[in-house]
Amino acid sequence: MDLLNTLVDKGLRRELPTREEALAVLATSDDDLLEVVAAAGKVRRQWFGRRVKLNYLVNLKSGLCPEDCSYCSQRLGSKAEILKYTWLKPDEASKAAAAGVAGGAKRVCLVASGRGPTDRDVDRVSETIEAIKEQNEGVEVCACLGLLSDGQADRLRSAGADAYNHNLNTSEGTYGDITTTHTYADRVETVHQAQAAGLSACSGLIAGMGESDADLVDVVFSLRELDPDSVPVNFLIPFEGTPLAKEWNLTPQRCLRILAMVRFVCPDVEVRLAGGREVHLRSMQPLALHLVNSIFLGDYLTSEGQAGQADLDMIADAGFEVEGAGTTTLPAHRAQSSGGCGSHDGGCTPCGDASGEAGEATDCGTSEEATASGVPAARTDLVAVRRRGAGTDLAPNA
Ligand code: SF4
Repeated sequence: MDLLNTLVDKGLRRELPTREEALAVLATSDDDLLEVVAAAGKVRRQWFGRRVKLNYLVNLKSGLCPEDCSYCSQRLGSKAEILKYTWLKPDEASKAAAAGVAGGAKRVCLVASGRGPTDRDVDRVSETIEAIKEQNEGVEVCACLGLLSDGQADRLRSAGADAYNHNLNTSEGTYGDITTTHTYADRVETVHQAQAAGLSACSGLIAGMGESDADLVDVVFSLRELDPDSVPVNFLIPFEGTPLAKEWNLTPQRCLRILAMVRFVCPDVEVRLAGGREVHLRSMQPLALHLVNSIFLGDYLTSEGQAGQADLDMIADAGFEVEGAGTTTLPAHRAQSSGGCGSHDGGCTPCGDASGEAGEATDCGTSEEATASGVPAARTDLVAVRRRGAGTDLAPNA
């Protein structure tokens, strides 16, 4: 297919595709899916080989957020029956992080619900970062605490944070439809602050919120312009008890096309498969490894992922390898230009990103395969609220 040859050539040269080319990837048919994956896979292997970076989420503070992000189980007014707790103590967070590191994670993502941290919160997180770094040699730490105020990014960097995550989530044009309590511009500003402080920026999106193909291309082109080191791609987990509970819009094939488009637009950036992978890709998850070079290990912020060992088995069975602690994630040209954090990338799903949402694990009577009309079926049976790890007495999944 001419389109795919063009996109591979551009990806190998780190050249930006046109908007039309990106839209055309999303418009390919299921019959062409394997060709699309193979083409984007060539770009992925050029910059990242067959390595898969593992990242581990620690939810430092869960629920009770005053913001109204409609995709988020922790939002104001959410009825999702998620775990709710206030700040973990540094040793509790460090213990949770150690489980992820023992499972193979190279980066720990410290996430807290809320609009943004107070200076006291930055102190707390700084203590936590120091405890994790002391007890887990070589681990990368990414903070994800919401909108930053002046000076906070510098303080996190001084405390040892390697990266900061804050997602754009959706296009500028539709941002106001999903959140009213802060703006798209607020989010961009926080990513800029992180970059200015020398933190490796991580910023991504959530697909499946009812957006158009043009919206998806818009947000991915905006991310390319923002130039983060890592781009997490979340697939909406439509939690019961949130405004988007009925938004079951994704098929495994659609998810793969979205990931391929992101890879073509951001060829040499760490593309991370984030929340919703088990729910929406299901048995097609291994194909996504040909597109992304990074995933989360184990559970998400408020929902459970598949068993950590299943993640490791999937990577090995698909012919990929877990990226070791001594390996630099980013290609040399990016690692050198990335503010002091070349070997770190990735990030967490920002507070509230889809990977953090929770929905209720309902016993659904509605979980079936795709319907005859071609509309994806709701797979509420696959959504499980996290009941283990941080904030509980049970061992984490790693
Ligand atoms: S995404 Fe973050 S800011 Fe938005 S409601 Fe969820 S926890 Fe709050």
